[in-house]
Amino acid sequence: MDLTQDQLLQKAGERIHHVYFPLDSFILLAAGEGAHDVLGVALVGHETMLGAWLLLGMDTAPLLARVQGGGSALRMPVADFSDVLATCPEFERRLRAELHLIIRQMAQTTVCAVFHVVEVRLAYWLLMIHDRAPTDRFYLTHDRLARMLGVRRSGVTTAAGLLQRRKLVNYTRGHIVVLNRRGLEKASCPCYRVGRVDARKIVKALRHEHGAADAGSA
Ligand SMILES: [Zn+2]
Repeated sequence: MDLTQDQLLQKAGERIHHVYFPLDSFILLAAGEGAHDVLGVALVGHETMLGAWLLLGMDTAPLLARVQGGGSALRMPVADFSDVLATCPEFERRLRAELHLIIRQMAQTTVCAVFHVVEVRLAYWLLMIHDRAPTDRFYLTHDRLARMLGVRRSGVTTAAGLLQRRKLVNYTRGHIVVLNRRGLEKASCPCYRVGRVDARKIVKALRHEHGAADAGSA
């Protein structure tokens, strides 16, 4: 199915009816109440899914989920998802690892929001988006970025201007083009690197477990 930008998929506390596997779309998970007291805490893209919470035995969504980058995704009813989990332990094991990564990402973005300035935070979020977007170009207005970062629009305008002057991105009326990926990584706070290290550790652990399981069955 196609997900459109800004589409609301779940509200916090609502019963989960479907899980989503983004292909080239990505979904923002956000915490908070009201129109302004909302903070983006994680991004979910092709590397994982929306609805991994079900593994915790709860059938309600803990966070608001809104499409941040429109595109395609696979959708599955919760009952079918539960059947797959019950019959495919390998799938469940992988999803548990991905859920662990989402929790780590939520912790890191919270640390980031408290301790890091807007310019480096914007670079961090643009990198996370770039990892999940199908191309170097994506559309995000200052308003959307401000809501994601939990800051004023003027703060985002200043931070985007600084990144643009350093020729790391081009930003025109919401159209963002990543010009210098490596430079953007250098401009980000350490939070982005922490996420990459976490992801590598999980992949290594899964491979190791997989190898151990193969050896055990041989
Ligand atoms: Zn940070």
